[in-house]
Amino acid sequence: LISRKWRVEPTRIDLGDGVVVGEGQFSIMAGPCSIENERQIELVVEHLKENNVKIMRGGVFKPRSSPYAFRGLGIEGLQMFYRICRENGIKIITEVMQVSQIEEMIDYVDVFQVGARNSQNFNLLDSLGEAQKPVLLKRGISGTLEELLQASEYIFSNGNEKIMLCERGIRGYEKAYRNILDLNAVPVLKEKTHLPVIVDPSHGIGLRDYVADMALAAVMAGADGVIYETHQKPEEAFSDGQQTLNFKESERLIRRMRQAYELR
Ligand code: PEP
Ligand code: MN
Repeated sequence: LISRKWRVEPTRIDLGDGVVVGEGQFSIMAGPCSIENERQIELVVEHLKENNVKIMRGGVFKPRSSPYAFRGLGIEGLQMFYRICRENGIKIITEVMQVSQIEEMIDYVDVFQVGARNSQNFNLLDSLGEAQKPVLLKRGISGTLEELLQASEYIFSNGNEKIMLCERGIRGYEKAYRNILDLNAVPVLKEKTHLPVIVDPSHGIGLRDYVADMALAAVMAGADGVIYETHQKPEEAFSDGQQTLNFKESERLIRRMRQAYELR
């Protein structure tokens, strides 16, 4: 069902208030790795509004490699995130980690993110298929494109067609950066499926200094949008600070991505 052979028309996902993701527009989703407190949300929202960015990312349930690392503010954090974003006309994308969280989160979310680690959590995908909220589905840590497409088919076949695919880098042997951002995936996925393709250069390369270049490359590769991490003080971020842009870097990147998209 997610194949271009089955449907030629590109899928466009309407988040309401004129915010649409899919072919024909370029979507920017930005925000911290983790939601930390009210002040942080307000500062990021202000930054996004100044730059006419309509979708804010931020995790409240965080999959962390170490159980002792910050694991997110949970549902109270999401409610605070939601209240501030709604007051400011910003849409929310945040990660859901398990089936039981869908129900408690659903009223406070515009797009559910399925993280790389849950990319083949088939129970979660089935349930998100029934949930009728847009989903951004990330490629698995070592996932093939075929596996990503089949994972999206779980959601789609349960009746939820509002799916975006996300290339976020795959694990390789190179130690000079965090992951290998596989931009080959973009044109290939665009040909194979009618679903929007989003690129996450932050997790894809994992080092702040290179995020902007890879984001721009993603635009030229044909991505329908980019999702990246930004924070008022990346060096103090609770998670992923090393790959997080400050607002000045973020602003410059937004401007350049829009210019690049115009050139495409
Ligand atoms: C994130 O977006 O902060 C995240 C944990 O992403 P991924 O699942 O791609 O590692
Ligand atoms: Mn992160």
